[in-house]
Amino acid sequence: MTADADPSRTADAQGGPKAVDHEQAAELAVRVENGALRLHELEDETDPDTAVAARRQLVAKKTDTDPSTIGSYGFPAGVAEPNIENMIGTVQVPVGVVGPVEINGGALEDERYLPLATTEGALLASVNRGCSVINHAGGATARVTKAGMTRAPVFRVTDVAEGLALVEWVRDHRQKLREAAESTTNHGELEDVTPYVVGNNVYLRFRYDTKDAMGMNMITIATKEVCELIEAETTASLVSLSGNLCTDKKPAAINAVEGRGRSVTADVVVPHEVVSEKLHTTPEAIAEINMRKNLIGSAKAGSFGFNAHVANPVAAMFLATGQDEAQVVEGANAITTAEVTDDGDLYFSVSLASLEVGTVGGGTKLPTQQEALEILGVRGGGDPAGSNADALAEAIAVGSLAGELSLLAALGSQHLSSAHESLGR
Ligand code: NAP
Repeated sequence: MTADADPSRTADAQGGPKAVDHEQAAELAVRVENGALRLHELEDETDPDTAVAARRQLVAKKTDTDPSTIGSYGFPAGVAEPNIENMIGTVQVPVGVVGPVEINGGALEDERYLPLATTEGALLASVNRGCSVINHAGGATARVTKAGMTRAPVFRVTDVAEGLALVEWVRDHRQKLREAAESTTNHGELEDVTPYVVGNNVYLRFRYDTKDAMGMNMITIATKEVCELIEAETTASLVSLSGNLCTDKKPAAINAVEGRGRSVTADVVVPHEVVSEKLHTTPEAIAEINMRKNLIGSAKAGSFGFNAHVANPVAAMFLATGQDEAQVVEGANAITTAEVTDDGDLYFSVSLASLEVGTVGGGTKLPTQQEALEILGVRGGGDPAGSNADALAEAIAVGSLAGELSLLAALGSQHLSSAHESLGR
């Protein structure tokens, strides 16, 4: 897993912000206030850091606030230009590490510190306790079991007969579709397409191998090319490049069932003596809590997430490593299982169905996020391509496993102590 040389990681990108021209910033802020310049036009007039300072001055004046801490950031604002508009600075989220934790993965076979960014006190302490237990058990096993990023455009047809004709045309022209899609990208590969017909609507769910990229931009561009071909060669009309059957950033059963991004599982067998010495509970108590809380309770609630708090490590590792934070919605589509083995030990697993992660593109280009990816050893493109994103998915799955184990054990030890209390009376 070597990190490719990344052109965004120049000396500038690693240094601090450029010196701000305060006089010019003040002048520009006045021009925006007077309506001579629009808020988003500041970067056309000056360097990115002075533009950010001017915008912040204006906001400070208009809102009678002092966002000077927001304005105290550690990399040149220009680095973040592809990531944000109307920038006034950065919000700082504390980042820490847990581990090192032993990961026996398909792509990540090593001891790793996991970086987590959060404002929730006790989260890292809890996940760290889980990591320590995993180490005492000989490490966690992790594998990506399915991979593929999806985009599902919606087409309008006159009726179901025309809808089926479109589905058949798509089935008969896979190679042509693949060539159109792959003409737009060096890395992306069109894997398959699943059609869905609803009245006079046809949804085509395209699934791509996006290698080390999370891939939403990559495959949106590729799918646009495919849609142009379909419109040119059939009678169907494209209504929207995304028909919501993708499904991006919304809770949806299709992601939980079919997967999106990486489907990844981490598991561990914890010897019963480790459960009692380190977690102060029993495999039986953890298995019972998992069944009654994570499985039955979640089923009764109609939840997609059959877990205790997988969103916690997923969100914290997404923030630390520059993932698209809105995709925590589907990233937390996870099922936790726990059972007592024939030897009385604890088999424990977490399966995340739709973890959309990348080590290139998007927020992974920001200097602080790149450093967190470096801590994990997965910055940039992997060798072979896709192996770094697989490794990141495995690391997040192991972080989730540790978090689940620790929280269920905490509940289990309370359960035990209350059982002791009532038994003792
Ligand atoms: P991106 O920054 O748009 O593109 C990453 C590009 O990196 C790839 O297209 C690829 O270029 C190149 N690349 C270099 N080495 C690679 C490797 N080893 N593996 C894969 N690609 C490699 O990133 P993205 O992941 O496609 O999109 C992520 C961004 O999209 C995030 O900022 C996210 O917020 C945003 N987003 C967009 C939408 C949308 O609908 N447009 C929705 C959600 C999120 P080639 O393609 O030329 O090979």
